Formats: sequence, structure tokens, C-alpha cells
Amino acid sequence: MYAFTLERPANVADAAKLAAAGGKVLAGGQTLLASMKLRLSAPEQLVDLGGIKELAGIKKEGNAFVIGAMTRHLDVGSHAEIKAAFPALAWLADHIGDRQVRAMGTIGGSVANNDPAACYPSAVLASGATVVTSKREIAADDFFLGLFTTALEEDELITAIRFPIPKRAAYEKLRQKASNFPLVGVFVTQGDSGVRVAVTGAGNGVFRHKGLEDALTKSFSPEAAAGVKIDSSDLNSDLHASAAYRANLINVLTQRAVKKALG
Ligand SMILES: Cc1cc2nc3c(=O)[nH]c(=O)nc-3n(C[C@H](O)[C@H](O)[C@H](O)COP(=O)(O)OP(=O)(O)OC[C@H]3O[C@@H](n4cnc5c(N)ncnc54)[C@H](O)[C@@H]3O)c2cc1C
Repeated sequence: MYAFTLERPANVADAAKLAAAGGKVLAGGQTLLASMKLRLSAPEQLVDLGGIKELAGIKKEGNAFVIGAMTRHLDVGSHAEIKAAFPALAWLADHIGDRQVRAMGTIGGSVANNDPAACYPSAVLASGATVVTSKREIAADDFFLGLFTTALEEDELITAIRFPIPKRAAYEKLRQKASNFPLVGVFVTQGDSGVRVAVTGAGNGVFRHKGLEDALTKSFSPEAAAGVKIDSSDLNSDLHASAAYRANLINVLTQRAVKKALG
């Protein structure tokens, strides 16, 4: 590792000041520390959010769950109220990586990082969730801008994510055996704002699929999803899978997710 200094602020305002001065925010470290070890990132100062109490924890506010940025995947996956009211979200958290990753990785780190194959961004986008930051509130539709890119400014921290609880929802993914990251993942919700379908792992970042949303709005059934042709021209092709294979996965996983959501 390169030499770096470590700050452990006690509140969000101090953390934001350190970030504004060039510090790199550290949450669960599951991505950041690995990229430092690989020399892909060499921050001179790390700003550890682990000591900021206000960033951790889960609250129910009306018909929404507000999940603090430093909440670990394990805590979302095992939260009794989330498991009862929004089981798709608990299932997603409970199937990220392995137990060690789930014990350390945080929702804020996952959403801020916006890995094109990460699970949480699909839940945030499909739920029409709100990303609450140290400066403002950002609608999911405006937050994810592409490959590892979000609407966050350099000195802006995610403090929480507010998830409206949908009427129905499910997440399905095909895992890469080595990492458990999805080769493709599809999160489907049906709620007050209609049907939303978000896809991860297939493109340069998470995206909504209008064709699937339109078909499922007419008929929320696996058969309706099966009838949608998925255009592969903008999808990723790499050593793990071709674009055509990913397109087929989007369709198949959406059918499975709808079936699961219908119980
Ligand atoms: C072996 C392995 C398997 C994995 N499998 C999966 C998987 O199946 N699905 C999946 O979705 N993910 C997977 N992950 C990723 C993991 O779940 C973490 O969510 C992810 O690494 C980022 O979260 P973190 O808390 O570790 O963030 P960190 O690594 O600490 O930070 C990541 C980035 O986000 C920034 N950041 C962190 N918190 C904030 C904040 N509150 N505000 C603003 N910026 C912030 C940091 O500065 C950094 O740039 C896997 C990781 C590993 C190592």
C-alpha cells in the first residue's frame, strides 16, 4: 500500500469537509481497499465513516424504509421488518458476495460506487428510491449516470437511501461463480408509480427497460415478459458472456422475478 493518513470524523459535516479537501471516503472498504491494493486508487487521505453513528441503522417512515448509508448488507438481509414488508430487498442484501463481504459492505458504498454489476443500484432504481445526501435528495432516476458514475459531487456523501415499499417486488440474478456478482440481475417492482424494471450487469450501468415495463404494465405476468424482445446492441460482451446471452438472460430473469413477485 502507499502511505496515507486516516481520519475518523464523528459527524457527517466533518466528513464532508474532509472530503471537500480531497479525502477519500471509506465505508466497508470492500471495493476501495481492494482497488488500493491493486494500485488502481492511491488516496492520500482516507475518511473512515465507521464512527458516524447517524449513518447506520434502519427506520420505517410511513410506507418507506430509510436505510443509513453505513448499514451493512448483513443487517438489511436479516432485518425482520424489511423481510416481512419488502422481502425482495432483504433477499438481495442476503445474496451479495459472501458472508465476509456482507458483514463489511455497506449500502452507501455500493450505491456510491455504482459498479455496473452491483445488486443494490437495481433495487434503488426499480423502487424509485431517493438517495439522501449531505446536500440534497436525489431521485434514483437522476442518480445513476453510467459506468462507476453518479450524480454525487466530490464533497457530497450519501447519508441514507429511502425506499418506498412496493406492492410486489422480486430480484433475480445469475451469479458469476467466482464472486457472486451478477452476470445479469433484474429487479422488478409493482407499486404506486406503476411497474419498474431495473437491470444490472448487462450494460455500462444499471438501467430501466421500457419494453418490459410497458408489457408488465398491461399484464403483470411471466408470459407478458416472455413476449418482449430485448435488443442486445447496447449490451456488454466480454469473456463471461456475449451481448446476445445477456439479452436472453434479461428476459428469462424478468420472467422469474415476476413469477416470484406474484408468489
Ligand atoms: C468478493 C466480493 C464479492 C462481491 N459481490 C457482490 C455482489 O454479488 N453484489 C454486489 O452488489 N456487490 C458485491 N460486492 C461489492 C460489495 O458488496 C460492496 O457493496 C462494495 O464493495 C462497496 O461497498 P463498501 O461499503 O465496501 O464501500 P467502499 O469500498 O468503502 O467504498 C466504495 C466507494 O464508494 C465511496 N463511498 C463509500 N461510502 C460512501 C458514502 N456514504 N457517500 C459517498 N461515497 C461513498 C468510496 O469513497 C469509494 O469510492 C462484492 C465485493 C467483493 C469484494
